Amino acid sequence: MLNNDKFKTILHSTPIVVIKIGTATLTPHIADPESGYFTELGKIIRDLMDQRKKVIIVSSGAVGYGKRILNRSFSRAISLTEKQALASIGQTVLVNKYREAFRKSDLIVSQVLLSASDFMNRSHYNNLRSTLNQLLDWNIVPIINENDVVATRELRMGDNDTLSASIAGLYPSAVLILLTTVDGFYANGERVATVTSIDEEVLSHAGSAGTDGSGGMVTKLLAGKKILQSGQVMAIASGKSPDILTKLLQGSSNATWFYPESAENLNSTKRWLLHNHYHKAKLTIDEGAEKALRFSSASLLAVGTINISESFKKGDIVLVESIGEKILARGIASIDSTSIPASREEKHGIQIIHRDSMVLL
Ligand code: GLU
Repeated sequence: MLNNDKFKTILHSTPIVVIKIGTATLTPHIADPESGYFTELGKIIRDLMDQRKKVIIVSSGAVGYGKRILNRSFSRAISLTEKQALASIGQTVLVNKYREAFRKSDLIVSQVLLSASDFMNRSHYNNLRSTLNQLLDWNIVPIINENDVVATRELRMGDNDTLSASIAGLYPSAVLILLTTVDGFYANGERVATVTSIDEEVLSHAGSAGTDGSGGMVTKLLAGKKILQSGQVMAIASGKSPDILTKLLQGSSNATWFYPESAENLNSTKRWLLHNHYHKAKLTIDEGAEKALRFSSASLLAVGTINISESFKKGDIVLVESIGEKILARGIASIDSTSIPASREEKHGIQIIHRDSMVLL
């Protein structure tokens, strides 16, 4: 039986807390010089660190702050380039806010700007973890945001819910807390206490995104899906007041918790694949192969493969799709595409992706 004591215990025992704070939660505090929001957040994070926890913040707000600083009205939807320029203006203010406020609690912050491409390349990914580890060892609070200024349309993560799940994914024992303007995920007018899996029915209860931020409930649920898949725990809670963090540690039920009842234990390759946004080629597989992937923990064999979108080499990342173009899995090819025979008879016994190098999506 899941109850708040369980989550309280999980929070107390986790060595790393990743806290994501959304645009709509943070931007009101830029216009208000009297706002003590960042200072209070710093105090609470100091408390968490005094309890021997490491804290990573994933902070939105660069575009939102940029907009307010530029103080220009946009009568139409803002273009991607304008958003990127606004992020360039707002990011400095955002990090400065953290720096000045956290200094009052003797905390040093650092800025980490990331793009989806940083999660594509395994060595970049490992390097990111090493740098974060070094910062955490020094008791620095990394403030992470997407590198909005350079990310192209194809290579954008686009929202920090996704980014924060990828950061939590670097640390299997981390708990992710998404602070937003609502106190949890609502379905049929009621806050859902615990989510243990995410399907189309759950997703159908998500509304649309707010004006300045790009996420909304959909991206939070999709972040939750990845978190559940990697056997981790996440909460969605209201960040209107930073003391929610203290309250959650005291067992407050004011949140929706995502808790995996059963999860495949993902090895580090699979966790990397789960948070990767890249693929070299797409493979379309038949229904038999789809069933084998889903229900028998099978490797992907050439015999069930109907189409290959483009050539790939052994070691490249490939995406696996059903005939109906439903994305099924991402994996690392164990052979070159040129070694896959065209005729079905000759395909027997040839494996394209080993199960240990593949994650279901
Ligand atoms: N990176 C964006 C910003 O700092 C926010 C993305 C999001 O809203 O999730 O403005």
